[in-house]
Amino acid sequence: MVFVMIKKDKNISIAIDGPVGSGKSTISQKCAARLGFIYVDTGALYRALGVYCKGFEGNSTRLEERIRSSNISLKFADGVQRVFAGGVDYTDKIRTPEASMLASAISARAEVRAFLLELQRSFARENSVVMDGRDIGTVVLPNADIKIFLTAAPRERAKRRYDELIAKGADVEFEKVLADLVKRDYDDSHREHAPLRQADDAIVADTTGNTFEESVEAVMRIINERYAH
Ligand code: C5P
Repeated sequence: MVFVMIKKDKNISIAIDGPVGSGKSTISQKCAARLGFIYVDTGALYRALGVYCKGFEGNSTRLEERIRSSNISLKFADGVQRVFAGGVDYTDKIRTPEASMLASAISARAEVRAFLLELQRSFARENSVVMDGRDIGTVVLPNADIKIFLTAAPRERAKRRYDELIAKGADVEFEKVLADLVKRDYDDSHREHAPLRQADDAIVADTTGNTFEESVEAVMRIINERYAH
């Protein structure tokens, strides 16, 4: 196990970006717990807003009104994040293939990204964080102390996502999960605003063939090495 000593005289931010199924959320959560940092899953904001704004996407003015009325917020208890929109807890309603696609569609809108930017930054100002997403190292926290770009081969990422959905009792086909993943990555990487992109100063961690524990160790090693300098 890699041990990391981090001085706590200032808040530290660790940005973790990467494509669908690269293991960002599970690895980030585990690393944050080891470091005693807050884990901020920014995808949950886009997912909750995507579901909350379903049916409003067609009209920019109505969409903006809907976003502003959402009062979207994250609450943390015992290291677990919960996301609220319109006063409703969306945490358990956003892990479906439909919510993934709604999130990806709404996340391409400039008004949505602008709306969520300050909220995300405020967590990193007030806490030491491991924050994961698509644009954390490039846009949200360009001055993050450590930036990691997590990736893995597409079929392996799709297999992880497929296994997760099957474990939850979902009725899905592997080829459909793979096709959705490839589409979402393409859309996320090719959108005009804050596309998924590796920051120039990010360190790449390819988790293909790794067990979960090996991936956590690899990320902790990067954090450790960065702090040794
Ligand atoms: O990470 P997750 O799969 O939960 O993200 C859902 C979607 O939200 C992504 O496909 C992406 O379109 C969007 N997203 C984003 N920027 C982030 C986090 C998520 O555009 N920082």
